[in-house]
Amino acid sequence: MSERVIPLIDQRLQTRAVPIPAQAIAATGQLRDARGRALRDLRISVTDRCNFRCSYCMPKEIFDKDYQYLPHSALLTFEEITRVAKVFVAHGVQKLRLTGGEPLLRKHLEILIEQLAALRTVDGAPLDITLTTNGSLLRRKAQALKDAGLQRVTVSLDGLDDAVFRAMNDVDFPVADVLDGIAAAQAVGLGPIKVNMVVKRGTNDDQILPMARHFKGSGVVLRFIEYMDVGATNGWRMDEVLPSAKVIERIHREMPLVPLEQAAEGETAQRWAYADGSGEIGVISSVTQAFCSDCNRARLSTEGQLYLCLFASEGHDLRHLIRGDASDEDLASAIASVWQPRADRYSELRASLPPDSTPGKRRVEMSYIGG
Ligand code: SAM
Ligand code: SF4
Ligand code: SF4
Repeated sequence: MSERVIPLIDQRLQTRAVPIPAQAIAATGQLRDARGRALRDLRISVTDRCNFRCSYCMPKEIFDKDYQYLPHSALLTFEEITRVAKVFVAHGVQKLRLTGGEPLLRKHLEILIEQLAALRTVDGAPLDITLTTNGSLLRRKAQALKDAGLQRVTVSLDGLDDAVFRAMNDVDFPVADVLDGIAAAQAVGLGPIKVNMVVKRGTNDDQILPMARHFKGSGVVLRFIEYMDVGATNGWRMDEVLPSAKVIERIHREMPLVPLEQAAEGETAQRWAYADGSGEIGVISSVTQAFCSDCNRARLSTEGQLYLCLFASEGHDLRHLIRGDASDEDLASAIASVWQPRADRYSELRASLPPDSTPGKRRVEMSYIGG
């Protein structure tokens, strides 16, 4: 095994078994953390594998042919995911996002979506179920996903120029196939579709305007994401971050924008409308403008580890409870005991932390817990 792989394997082992609290904590739909933040959004990673090698997420040098992905037996089954999701929903979760790795690589994902779509919030409403994908398999899967009860999709696309995009996904995947996937998703009604573009200064920032021009007036909401220092393998540097304010400035100069109200509490994107009424865009400024104060997101890894922050260095192992003899009430108490003391706010602290500080090198990888 190559030496480079070791920190990642360590990373996955860095989990804490969650004990069942002696005093039960019933699910009331009102679970709050130490900073008063409710639990509303659960992101579920369904695979740690991907067919792309985006350098900011799964660089080829690390995720090579020797890289050891999780064995199938380690993955939560669809039934296990649905069971744990139901308990999260009882705690107040209203939105589920399936992610990965590349979620459409998980076989028969539509069966999981069908199971999740049958869940109801504490108020009896259907859940908001969505999925983030690189779009490569979307054309083939769009109809089945829609039929299973998926409401909408977010597609990642980092540029319109074929050479730039092929270099960024690092597996020579063409732009045209992702655009086909987006069109297929639109045709079956998986909307409103969002397209996420990670902006790396000097790599694809020349794609901002072409992307904006392309999606303006199409009904697709394009969102620009600041390149983040997630994980420990992407060699992140601040000088490769293009602040969202600059993105807005560049677009506004050619296509005037007006700010919109924030859609909902915990919403990560700041929204802007085209002044001529031809749609909206968003910016996700996790580096230059932290939004930890109302962060209502929990993340469940492919193997059932609960992460409280994208930048966490440690997960909380729920799988041993799911596969043990814990009841749903035990599971609810255990989840509450993890969420209640939560005080994470990495993005707010980033600027004041020394460059190589903890969690730093031991951060969980984005491909393991999803975005
Ligand atoms: N494979 C799917 C995809 O790419 O949409 C889902 C998983 S991917 C980890 C989720 C999102 O995280 C994608 O939109 C991706 O662009 C984003 N992402 C990954 N690494 C990132 C980084 N270093 N900074 C900002 N966004 C990142
Ligand atoms: Fe794969 Fe998505 Fe990560 Fe790109 S961002 S390597 S598509 S998981
Ligand atoms: Fe939430 Fe952590 Fe991101 Fe802050 S840094 S917004 S707490 S995931």
